[in-house]
Amino acid sequence: MTYGALGHGPASPDGEPVAAGQSGAGQSGAGGAVAGAGPEDSGCRILHVDMDAFYASVEIRDRPDLAGRPVIVGATASRGVVLSASYEARAFGVHSAMPVTRARRLCPQAVFIPPRHHAYAAVSKEVMEVFRSVTPEVEPLALDEAFLDVSGAIRRLGPPARIGALIRATIAEQQGINCSVGVAPSKFIAKLASTRSKPDGLLIVPADGVLAFLHPLPVAALWGVGEQTGQVLARLGLRTVRDIAEIPVGTLQRELGSSLGAHLAALAWGRDERPVVSSTPEKSIGAEETFASDIDDPEVIRRELLRLSGRTARGLRSAGALARTVVIKLRLANFTTITRSRTLPEPTDVARTIYGTACALYGAAGLDSRARLRLVGVRASGLVPASRAATQLAFGERRAGWRDAERALDRISGRFGADTVRPATLVTGQRDEPSPRPGGSAPRLPPAQGPRPPP
Ligand SMILES: [Mg+2]
Repeated sequence: MTYGALGHGPASPDGEPVAAGQSGAGQSGAGGAVAGAGPEDSGCRILHVDMDAFYASVEIRDRPDLAGRPVIVGATASRGVVLSASYEARAFGVHSAMPVTRARRLCPQAVFIPPRHHAYAAVSKEVMEVFRSVTPEVEPLALDEAFLDVSGAIRRLGPPARIGALIRATIAEQQGINCSVGVAPSKFIAKLASTRSKPDGLLIVPADGVLAFLHPLPVAALWGVGEQTGQVLARLGLRTVRDIAEIPVGTLQRELGSSLGAHLAALAWGRDERPVVSSTPEKSIGAEETFASDIDDPEVIRRELLRLSGRTARGLRSAGALARTVVIKLRLANFTTITRSRTLPEPTDVARTIYGTACALYGAAGLDSRARLRLVGVRASGLVPASRAATQLAFGERRAGWRDAERALDRISGRFGADTVRPATLVTGQRDEPSPRPGGSAPRLPPAQGPRPPP
């Protein structure tokens, strides 16, 4: 393991950020975060924990022969995009969301691996469990990152920096992957700190070191500064966060609107009062797919809904949950996003039911036949424990039949890999990325048709 990626030395007396690896020589166990007198971490009750190169790290963990090699996880279809790249691959300029074809040109010697979403979801679940063993105040942002408010854990586990080190050590030991941790007084600073400590680092930004840490950063470091806002700021000659802090807030508001202007001014002074909002695990479960090129063929869309419904149902079953509501998300080529939801008469974890509902919602969304989609998603919400609803399911023999059939598929997939068994309509399709088909050549797929049980 390495020390944090920052140039900062360990514990500096004047409130400078402190970077530390967790397993350096001479430190006592997981708690010994930092050499010397210990970091000033008072007031740093927020942690942001983020797995390093998550998908790629899981693949490398499961295939030790890949260690030290450039590894790229991405859809292997010709139009696929990079989902995750090991740091060895990043050294060649490869990054997520880049077309795989470009990644191949940049780093032909890389090992390309199709994603195993099942495996990542399983690791994510365990990682979140580790977080929740520290504090119930956990706000997941993605499969591989979360905010933690550790105020209530300090008496039990020690100061925040020590808790951060403990989490890093626990995840490394239990999951065999590395993560980076930012320790700070607010969510915004904690997230910046974890990013800057990557890979495999821990960075503490004490309350009185926030401005020294923040002000030299480029304006793009501020939440809310995208491409467009960045252009406005550049036009005003504002390059660093300090520049934003020093310009009158009225000027920012005039140029950016009153709410964004005020927001950026507050952030530039390190003010971010947002609390960590804990969510119960698995409030909703779902899957979505961004197409590598925009899709306007309803058959391809429905096939994707089928695949995502299968993934959602498997997620529900492995979480022991049933969903009351099915939600679909359709993002158009122009980034307009449409969501539609329907609450079911009975909660379900059956792909066929989810797919049927998703197709009905898609049909009812009333999209123009030429509407081009860049993303579709299926989500199941309103979750209830499957155990509580078990008796209801016994009613419909037919529904129970589908459920048993899908559970049987789960067992086979669990033994031989998630891709072993899939609905027949998917076998001929591309595995990872549906690509546009010439009009009319796709096989007809009636909306209600779902996965079939084995004979
Ligand atoms: Mg990550």
